[in-house]
Amino acid sequence: MKRILVIEEETQLRSNLISMLALDGFQAVGAANGLAGLAQAEADVPDLILCNTVLSDLDGYALLLRCRRHEQLAVVPFVFVGVESDRAAVRRAMNLGADDYLSLPFTHEEIVASVQACLKKREMNHRSYLCQVQQAKMTIDRMSHWDPLTQLPNRRYFLDQVREALGSAKQQQRSLVVLSLNIDDWRAIVMTFGHESGDGLLCAIAERLKCCQALVGRLAESEFGLVLRGAMQHQQVTHFVQQLQAKLTEPYQINGHEVRIRASVGIAAYPQHSSQPEALLMQADTAMRWCQQRGQSQYRFYNPSMSAIEAEQHLLATELNRAIERDQLEVHYQPQVDITTGQVIGVEALLRWHHPQRGLISPKTFIPIAEDSGMIVPIGEWVLRTACRQYQAWKRLTSRPFKLSVNLSMRQLQQENLVEMVESILRETGMDARSLSLELTETSLMKQVSTSVYTLHQLKALGVGLSIDDFGTGYSSLTYLNKLPIDTLKIDHSFVSQLTVNRNAAVISNAIIDMAQRLDLNIVAEGVENRRQLEFLHGCGCYAVQGFFYSPPLKHGQVQALLLGKNFLPQTPRSMLVAGKGSGR
Ligand code: C2E
Ligand code: MG
Ligand code: MG
Repeated sequence: MKRILVIEEETQLRSNLISMLALDGFQAVGAANGLAGLAQAEADVPDLILCNTVLSDLDGYALLLRCRRHEQLAVVPFVFVGVESDRAAVRRAMNLGADDYLSLPFTHEEIVASVQACLKKREMNHRSYLCQVQQAKMTIDRMSHWDPLTQLPNRRYFLDQVREALGSAKQQQRSLVVLSLNIDDWRAIVMTFGHESGDGLLCAIAERLKCCQALVGRLAESEFGLVLRGAMQHQQVTHFVQQLQAKLTEPYQINGHEVRIRASVGIAAYPQHSSQPEALLMQADTAMRWCQQRGQSQYRFYNPSMSAIEAEQHLLATELNRAIERDQLEVHYQPQVDITTGQVIGVEALLRWHHPQRGLISPKTFIPIAEDSGMIVPIGEWVLRTACRQYQAWKRLTSRPFKLSVNLSMRQLQQENLVEMVESILRETGMDARSLSLELTETSLMKQVSTSVYTLHQLKALGVGLSIDDFGTGYSSLTYLNKLPIDTLKIDHSFVSQLTVNRNAAVISNAIIDMAQRLDLNIVAEGVENRRQLEFLHGCGCYAVQGFFYSPPLKHGQVQALLLGKNFLPQTPRSMLVAGKGSGR
C-alpha cells in the first residue's frame, strides 16, 4: 500500500484529503505544519507528499526545496495543493521540482488521478534508473574483464579462465598447457607504422588467435595468453605451437602495407611445472622472455633454470642502477691501427663494470640487461661524456691525429633527444664532431632501419662519423647501406677469426671489403688476433684493424703512454708497411 504524507495546516481540509485517499486504497498520514511534515518525511520516507503552498512555519516552496536537496526525499513525488490558480504560481512550483499542482477547489477524482499519475511516473523513472545502473554495471564488468581493442579477455579475466580450466583438469586428472606469446620487435613495428596501424595489427593477430582451438586472452600490449585443454603430449603441444607460429607469420595487410611479424612462445604445463594458475602463467612468461632474449620466433617449455637466470638478471639490473653513482663503471679503450704505418689511428671506448663481489662483468652480459631496463640511456650518455672528456685530455698532450669510437645501443637510437644529447656533449667537452664515430651494431640497425634513417642523418649533420659494428652478422641488405649515411663498416670478428681456416669466411670477408671499397666506405677489421689474419686482410686491401694482435682494450693511462710514445704496440710485419710511413715507433 502506497503511503501518502499530507501536509496541511487546516484540520478539516487535511482530514478530507486523508479520507479521500484512503477510499482509493492509499495509506495517508497527516502533518499539521511544514516542519512537522519534513521531520515525519525524513523519519519515514513516504511514496508521495501532498502539501499546501501556504504554511505558516515553513513555506510550501521552501519545504519542496529542502526535500529536493535531501538524499532520500529528492525523488519522492511532490504535489502542491494551492489556492493560487494563476499560471505563474503553477510554473514556479513546477520549476522548483514539483510533480503537479492542484488548485483548490478540486474533486475527488482529480486528486486521485494526480496522485496515481505521479506515482506511475515515479515508478517508470525508477525502472529506467535501474536499467541505467544495470547497463553501467555491465559496462564496468566488460571493461574489467575484456580488452576493448581486441575483444579478448584481459589478463585478469584470462587468469580466472586459467584457474577454472585448471580446476576441471585437476578433477578429470588431465594435463593443461598455458602459452605466453609475444610479438617480437613490437616497438619497432609501432615506430615504423604508427600506433593506429599497430592497433589494427593487434586486432588482426587476435582474430587469427581466436581461430585456434584454445582459450585466448590479451595479457599486455603485445602479449597474448593461450590455454590448451585436453590431454596433450609434449609432441602435440610442439606441433600446435609450430602451426600457430606459422599461421601468425603469414603477412598482414595494414593500411596498404604488407607487415610480417614473428612471435616468441613460452610454454608451461600442469602438472609438470605447477598446479597454481598464477605460477603457470608466470612460468610461461619467463619461458617466453627467455626465447625473446635469445633470438626470435622461438618456443620453449619452461625450465626452472630460466627463473634462476631471470632472478639473477633482475638482481644485476638493480645493482647496475647504482653502478654509475658508486663509481663502478670504467671506460677502457682499444687501439685501432693502420697496418701500413703501424700507427694508432683511433680508439674504441668499451665499457667495463667492476662489480664489488662478482669482479669484472663483461659488457656482453650487462649491456643487454641495461637495454632491457632502459638503464642503457643514462649509461650510454655517461660513456660518451667520459670518453669525449678523455679524448680531449689526450688531445692536449699529443698532436697525433686519431679518432674516438663510441658504441650506441638500439635503445639509445630510439631515444627522443639523442641528437641533442650528442650535440650538447660535444659542446660541453669542446670535442670536434669529425673526430667522433658512433658505432651501431648491424643487428640493431636492421631491426629499426626505417625509423633510424632520420636520426642518423641528423647525427651525420652534426659532423659525427657513423659505423656499422659487427658487420656480416645482421643480414643487412645492400640497398639499406646506400640509404644510410654510414661511413665505416667494421667486419665482425667471427669472420676475422675464420679467415685463415674457413674458405667461406674468407670469401665473405673479401666480398665485404670489396663492396665497402666500391661504396667508398672505410673498413675496419675487428678481432684480429694473429699475423696470418693480418696478412690476409692486408692482401684484400683492408688496412685498419683492431684486435688482440695489437692490443686488448686498455686503461686510459696505458693509452696515454702509447700516444706519448712511452709504450709501444707490437710491431707490424715489415712486409706490410708502406715504405716511408714508419713502423709506429
Ligand atoms: P664491439 O663494439 O664489437 O667491441 C669489440 C669487442 O671485441 C670488445 O668486447 C673487445 O674487447 C673484443 N675484442 C677486441 N679484440 C679482440 C680480439 O682480438 N679477439 C676477440 N675475441 N675479441 C676481441 P667487449 O669489450 O667485451 O665488448 C663487447 C660488446 O659490448 C661490444 O662489442 C659492444 O657491442 C658492447 N659494448 C661495449 N661497451 C659498450 C658501450 O659503452 N655501449 C654499448 N651500447 N655497447 C657496448
Ligand atoms: Mg663496437
Ligand atoms: Mg664489434
